[in-house]
Amino acid sequence: MHLYPPLQWRGGGEVPRSSDAGASSGPYSSFMFEVSESKFKSVQWKTTAHLGTMEVSKVVVDTVQGAINVGLLKPEDEIVSVFYTRLERGYPTPTLLRDAALEQADQFLLEDDIYSRGRFGMWKYEVANQDHSFSQGVEAVERILQSAEELTVYHPEIVNTREKKRRRTFNHQEED
Ligand SMILES: Cc1cc2nc3c(=O)[nH]c(=O)nc-3n(C[C@H](O)[C@H](O)[C@H](O)COP(=O)(O)OP(=O)(O)OC[C@H]3O[C@@H](n4cnc5c(N)ncnc54)[C@H](O)[C@@H]3O)c2cc1C
Repeated sequence: MHLYPPLQWRGGGEVPRSSDAGASSGPYSSFMFEVSESKFKSVQWKTTAHLGTMEVSKVVVDTVQGAINVGLLKPEDEIVSVFYTRLERGYPTPTLLRDAALEQADQFLLEDDIYSRGRFGMWKYEVANQDHSFSQGVEAVERILQSAEELTVYHPEIVNTREKKRRRTFNHQEED
């Protein structure tokens, strides 16, 4: 994880100093970029490059350049700070054989009372947001205590319905 100190840098490579009359006092915007990597798409994060006067991971420089290329940033825009972090695993990526494999793994673990839940615990991307992951934990406890049904893990089609009903499985109650 890298939190680079405030930069005074312009996309075009120019390095304005605070004494630069062109340096803006704001307002500023924030951008969040996610860069994926696979064996089919390499990303240069191990090498470093210069962003203004700062030495940063090359992927940061490439990302800023990409933002300029597509018009999200202008070369003369001023970048005042950059936060960069690398996650080895970001997404529980679905595959065609996923459901059968998950069912087998889930059954195997449940035989030993292991409730593997959460974003990577259950590996179900369609119910792996923060709210889903939290519900998975709550519902696993409700199942253990009350034999309630786990809706989030086993019925994404219900919990992801556009109809925003608040559901509780505990005591088999259902609320609007
Ligand atoms: C880039 C990105 C953007 C996201 N954006 C959103 C968003 O906008 N909205 C949203 O709702 N959700 C978002 N999410 C998803 C959200 O972060 C997850 O749904 C949530 O954090 C999952 O919670 P969790 O408890 O299941 O798992 P995690 O938060 O991953 O917690 C698992 C914990 O277990 C620890 N751990 C792993 N292995 C072991 C081990 N062997 N022993 C001990 N500890 C271990 C890990 O270190 C971690 O602390 C995003 C996720 C990513 C990666």
